[in-house]
Amino acid sequence: MKGAGILENTAVAVARGRIAAIGTARHLLPAFADAEIIDCRGGVLTPGLVDSHTHAVFGKPRFEEQELRAAGRGYMEIEAQGGGIHSSVRDLRARTENELFDLALTRLRALASYGTTTIEIKSGYGLSLDDELKMLRVIGRLAASSPMRIVATWLGAHEIPHEYRSSDDRRKEFHRLLIDDLLPLVKEQGIARFADVFCEPGVFTVEESRAILEASRQAGLGLKIHADELEPAGGAELAASLNAASADHLAAISERGIRALAASDTVATLLPGTMLFLGKPKLAPARALIDAGAAVALATDFNPGTSPTVNFPLILTLGVSQLRMSVAEAIIAATVNGAAALGLAGETGQIAPGFSADLALFQISDARELPYWYGARLCVGTWKAGAPCHPYENLAKLNPRSPEISTAG
Ligand SMILES: [Zn+2]
Repeated sequence: MKGAGILENTAVAVARGRIAAIGTARHLLPAFADAEIIDCRGGVLTPGLVDSHTHAVFGKPRFEEQELRAAGRGYMEIEAQGGGIHSSVRDLRARTENELFDLALTRLRALASYGTTTIEIKSGYGLSLDDELKMLRVIGRLAASSPMRIVATWLGAHEIPHEYRSSDDRRKEFHRLLIDDLLPLVKEQGIARFADVFCEPGVFTVEESRAILEASRQAGLGLKIHADELEPAGGAELAASLNAASADHLAAISERGIRALAASDTVATLLPGTMLFLGKPKLAPARALIDAGAAVALATDFNPGTSPTVNFPLILTLGVSQLRMSVAEAIIAATVNGAAALGLAGETGQIAPGFSADLALFQISDARELPYWYGARLCVGTWKAGAPCHPYENLAKLNPRSPEISTAG
């Protein structure tokens, strides 16, 4: 994660949706004489950002909880007043597929406008057979009709729904429902690429998580884990032992967990926006993870309860200023390693010949400005496989410092 490989005065040639060549414009232009030219001078072109952890399909936002938290109300109190994750569950169950699709599409456009071209979206607000399938169908429709690259994750084990909380036997019934009833349908319908479990004391134990994830692997799904967010419960070690694609959150990861991830191919996905938004001082030990040799990714955790931001570069700011990452490490975490966390390491997240032409153009003159102007929307264009994700804004018009555009490129 040491060097981001930044090149100056470089042109990127795209053919049939893939990066065909990289070099100076003078060398590339004769070989691509018919090409449409997009002038990126005065800007910085990066791989399209890969947001490998979101809950982007939801109904109502939950802004009323923010003030309650500020006033010192705990999670249980907020839940008692009708908030918390169960309010998102109730709300999602009451909505139609079309409503959820329309709401999510608007939010995806906002995400793309900040530089994101690939996004993972989890289910997990349905928590019943029909509603989990409904959510995954919405994600599938978004994948088919949104200009972004979308990866679906089945997170049936996000929480124990209220109707299964009355006794231990009822809890066990929910587990049985997940593994015996829901998972076979997810597999049969081919509507998810990964399975995920919220492994945390009081939600799903390490043993329960292991059972769900092993069954998911049998069903052909890749594995992800919400691990060690609040307590060091062994989620990271579990992820490494299962060779999961990623272990996510990790604010409370143990020394053993750090060593386990460093010795594995499992990506450590950190979500510093969540802790910022919740006002919690706890931070994932990014430095210790990177220095031990773990691959670290950053993601937004975009969701209505704990991280309602569509601004991925802001997460890079937190990576540098809060998690003490270098700018190169933060950019790699949001591109190369995000792609690895989604099993797409050979497809997206790099500007290199053969990769999908997933690109983001920022109105800055130095890559270090990306996490610097925090909160600003600096992105002026994103492309997936060479096609625009959100409308390209002419950089020269926006940026008076950049030279006049000439048709000669
Ligand atoms: Zn999450």
